[in-house]
Amino acid sequence: MTHRQDDRNFRLPRDVLPQRYEAHLAVDFAEKSFRGSQRVTLSVVRPVREFVVHSLNLDLTRVELRAGTRVLPARVTVLPVSETALLSFEAEIPAGEATLHVDWTGNFSDGLRGLYLAGEVAATQFEAADARRVFPCFDEPAFKARWALSVEVPVGLAVLSNGAVADSSPSGGGRQRIRFAETELLPSYLVALVAGPLVGSPEDLAGDVPVRTWALPEKAHLAHFGQQAALAALPRLQAYFGLPYAFGKLDQVAIPEFEAGAMENAGLITYRELALLVDPVSAPLSVQKRIAEVVTHELAHQWFPGLVGSDPISAPVADEALAQAVALLAVEWTHGADAARAVDAQQVTGAYLAWRGMGGEDAAADRPTSAFADEMSYGALVYGKAPGLHARQRALLGEGAFVQDLRAYVDTHRWGWADSSSLTALLAQRHPGQASALRALQRRWWSEAHGDEDLGSAETGAVPGVPSWSEVEKLMRQIEH
Ligand SMILES: [Zn+2]
Repeated sequence: MTHRQDDRNFRLPRDVLPQRYEAHLAVDFAEKSFRGSQRVTLSVVRPVREFVVHSLNLDLTRVELRAGTRVLPARVTVLPVSETALLSFEAEIPAGEATLHVDWTGNFSDGLRGLYLAGEVAATQFEAADARRVFPCFDEPAFKARWALSVEVPVGLAVLSNGAVADSSPSGGGRQRIRFAETELLPSYLVALVAGPLVGSPEDLAGDVPVRTWALPEKAHLAHFGQQAALAALPRLQAYFGLPYAFGKLDQVAIPEFEAGAMENAGLITYRELALLVDPVSAPLSVQKRIAEVVTHELAHQWFPGLVGSDPISAPVADEALAQAVALLAVEWTHGADAARAVDAQQVTGAYLAWRGMGGEDAAADRPTSAFADEMSYGALVYGKAPGLHARQRALLGEGAFVQDLRAYVDTHRWGWADSSSLTALLAQRHPGQASALRALQRRWWSEAHGDEDLGSAETGAVPGVPSWSEVEKLMRQIEH
């Protein structure tokens, strides 16, 4: 192998690809630790003597590979800088199928990533690259595989993952073992687990998809609005994309401590409490709109990147801008074009303008996450400005054509992969007469800095009266007390 394996910018070679993880995690809340065991079905593309998997702060206690009738123990070399473990074998692994068996132990993470404790709730947050803190795995978004997960936790806790609960049984000592339905092809960063004393809303059906919204018992009465928002949006998105929701069931969970606003794990969307829970009787309309918009944004993510994968590390704009644009469309279908314009002005374009008003600099939106100056700049450019590209594409091509184009995009890349130029490439192919205009639009909105010309300045465009997170937080405290 010629690549440097312990480089911070190391990316996995494609010699060995995961097909399926069958993984079990026994979680110890008191010790804040876990024991894991898994079988990974691999496709060995080229014969190799060694390969790497991501693994961060995990102790790999047994690693062996089965290829045909041979069982090869692995020598494990921890490579801390690239957050990987090099697995070396005595003999060459032939091309074809092989199975990697791994046993390991690990600890809950201190921050709000990996597997962590939020009050009494154990939750995962893997985007962009923290599945490696819980599972030894191929932790890059292009390495999609099926996940057949089971967990062991204390009895009495609600336990959720991407797939529905397939079966559960007591495992002795006051503990239960829960097995989840196997997932479709997923990148590791969309895998999720939540276990805690949570209460679910009654199960409602959106078409044939069971939907439930979960919260701590003392806040369960605030879950109704988010549940209704999902029930309203899901059938519309299915009709719009012409492809059914792919993950069998949908759970939404309010996590007491959460890093982002929400996370689009396939079939199990996790939210900051403030982004999901609300009392619609006392909360102002603007707060309700914000929650409906966040829920719809996360549901749109079930198609991008749930179905059409993309890389949240090198090009987050690809799926974030589409999710924003589709969330605005959903407001338009439900409440009309004026309402969509108002939500756009408040929550999308408004975020960009507010940030410009505070002195933030306009710049290219299509960049790796690490290339943005800070989180504010990332939020303003990727979530605030970049969705404008899709509105202009739609205006250029016409509503009817754009719907067909988006369906073609989802259909072309489903269970696969798209980068930030894939949609424009497909649009240009389907509309050759407008190909150069489409490319120019993408350059202007995503690679250059024309925000002030295209969206107006903070003075002319900003809409006052949009509550900030801290104002919403204050409001929630009033509701709770
Ligand atoms: Zn998003």
